[in-house]
Amino acid sequence: MIECFARAIEDRTDDLVALTVDLIRFPTVNPPGEAYTPCAEYVARCLSRLGFQTKLIRGEGTPGDTDRYPRTNVVARLEGKGPGPTVHFNSHIDVVETGAGWTVDPFGGEIRDGKIFGRGTCDMKGGLAASIIAVEAFLAVRPDFHGAIEISGTVDEESGGFGGVAYLAKEGYFSRPRVDHVIIPEPLNKDRICLGHRGVWWAEIETKGRIAHGSMPFLGDSAIRHMGAVLDAFEHELFPALDRKQTEMPVVPEGARRSTMNINSIHGGQTEDFFPGLPSPTVPDSCRIVIDRRFLLEEHIDEVKGEVSSILERLKRERPRFDYGMRNLMEVLPTMTERDAPVVQAVAGGIREVFGHDPEYVISPGTYDQKHIARIGHLHDCIAYGPGILDLAHQPDEWVGIEDMVQSANVMAISLDALFGAAG
Ligand SMILES: [Zn+2]
Repeated sequence: MIECFARAIEDRTDDLVALTVDLIRFPTVNPPGEAYTPCAEYVARCLSRLGFQTKLIRGEGTPGDTDRYPRTNVVARLEGKGPGPTVHFNSHIDVVETGAGWTVDPFGGEIRDGKIFGRGTCDMKGGLAASIIAVEAFLAVRPDFHGAIEISGTVDEESGGFGGVAYLAKEGYFSRPRVDHVIIPEPLNKDRICLGHRGVWWAEIETKGRIAHGSMPFLGDSAIRHMGAVLDAFEHELFPALDRKQTEMPVVPEGARRSTMNINSIHGGQTEDFFPGLPSPTVPDSCRIVIDRRFLLEEHIDEVKGEVSSILERLKRERPRFDYGMRNLMEVLPTMTERDAPVVQAVAGGIREVFGHDPEYVISPGTYDQKHIARIGHLHDCIAYGPGILDLAHQPDEWVGIEDMVQSANVMAISLDALFGAAG
């Protein structure tokens, strides 16, 4: 039976390539959210030809949603010949900006040396195309399966997923009993299973001062110097402490197998775009930074926040006139699907069949749409698995290998068989 899937996919290689090229030609750049509707409509047309019921769902009122740039998602569902579980393939159709350094047309879909080039080939229209062909091949071999298959093309993953998976999850599209197993074909490499991601906490910290004439700074109080003290404490206490926190989570790359923090921005005193070249002499009364803290399954969110606020509180006690404010911007808890979860077992089996070795289990350093499925949909039988080499995502001359897509599609078809077979 496994050979049947391989043959059914092999027979459809030209369709797989054509489908990927077609998807690449929609310049679904986010922001602002270009060409979402025509791309979603195209996916809907492909799937209705396979017998799916399709629905376009706009993320009404979500960030960036306007009549010029509607957040258009597509959700498609195919019922099998009897009751059984639902397997959902979720791909995002948005891509990041092209940036500089391209030697091919980013939206041309050029094919060369067994690779398809273009923005979004790897991340992740190649994965979307592979999942559609996998389902088509599965249906050809198993027309009488019991259960249901869903495929969605969702928007805004690259900007947080609010108009895409988060919106659909709130509408019940990623919860039981509608859905049982979710595979997100993000480019994690064809023989790896991504079980989840580290946690994220974003916060803005402001130090406060008092404005005065710059020639007499002793009459004021510099918020920038106060922030300097904060950064100094981070440098000498927090960063070394974070570096010592190792995780059991198999995060890739290896450097992310510990706690990390980035300072995303810093602004103090006069804004740069007022009166360019004509600064006035004032003592800054405000300085703000945004921190991006990535944390581990072993850490509690309260502890993560506490490390930062205890430094700020200590400065308040020890440093004359030090005052600060802190504002939460975003928090997402770490998530890791269990290795014995049905979807993990099914895809692991597929990888063993196709590649002859065990999968590598990994955790993503950053979050992706699985966070909404876990947090809003309360569905934990979810992984990322798809073709494409992770390092190529968001790069110039991004590409996806045709053979990689074929093999991944094969793994997906075998996984479907396992998930439906197990129920039957
Ligand atoms: Zn992606």
